[in-house]
Amino acid sequence: LAEELRHAQKMEAIGTLAGGVAHDFNNILTAIVGFGTLLQRSLNKDNPYQIYVDQILNAADRATTLVKRLLAFGRKQVITPLPTDLNGIIQSIEKLLARLVSEDVEFKVSLFNEPLVCHVDSGQIDQILMNLVTNARDAMPSGGTLTLTTDATVLNENSFSSLEQCRPGRYAVLTVSDTGLGMDQETKERIFDPFFTTKEVGKGTGLGLSMVYGIVRQHEGFVTVDSEPGAGTTFRIYLPIVALTARHEEEAPPIVAKGNR
Ligand code: ADP
Repeated sequence: LAEELRHAQKMEAIGTLAGGVAHDFNNILTAIVGFGTLLQRSLNKDNPYQIYVDQILNAADRATTLVKRLLAFGRKQVITPLPTDLNGIIQSIEKLLARLVSEDVEFKVSLFNEPLVCHVDSGQIDQILMNLVTNARDAMPSGGTLTLTTDATVLNENSFSSLEQCRPGRYAVLTVSDTGLGMDQETKERIFDPFFTTKEVGKGTGLGLSMVYGIVRQHEGFVTVDSEPGAGTTFRIYLPIVALTARHEEEAPPIVAKGNR
């Protein structure tokens, strides 16, 4: 629990810091882009210095993109959690996700045979899926299999070793699994840290998984990761299933733990 809290506090502090720096930096960028554009317009096309101004504006453009990402990360986004079927969310974004992966990656989807109604913001679940699928794709540069599944499980007090902040009960499990490069222990310990990335400059920001972590915690769920170097990686997102009312409880058959596909 201490570890979990420490991580949450660190995330919050970095989020605030990132948001603050990004905001100030954005003002500076406005001046660079504004005056740079003026300069660009006032120089003749054949002016030898034109190329330098173009370079400055290109760099400012890249900086603007980065600042936008930082702002989005630092900002406490307003979320609108509504009772929503996770399977439905996946079905509506499935085609888009399939387009994210390259042709030599087999993309498999297998959904639990009943609706998995959770109190979630569907836009945020889309974000989680896009981040996890993008990472899985990046981990399989020479192809492989990406599997997306949903399931239901019941967790009791004993299920939460270091995660006592979660309530016992029914959980939907969203699994994103790849047969890619995998991770060593050292990498695995740091993946949820903001700005931690092993990708080359310009390819990774190191914000994807910290965003996933933040969103899942906001939804009172949790994330686990299993990974073996050379074998692949499996991320599991647990989200509490909306408690049914007594009346519904009589009507709906109980959702049984794992494997009832
Ligand atoms: P980014 O993708 O920008 O690097 P993330 O926070 O999404 O940032 O991921 C952090 C790091 O976690 C990645 O750079 C990579 O080293 C590791 N990682 C994440 N997902 C996977 C995966 N499916 N397989 C192997 N490594 C992964």
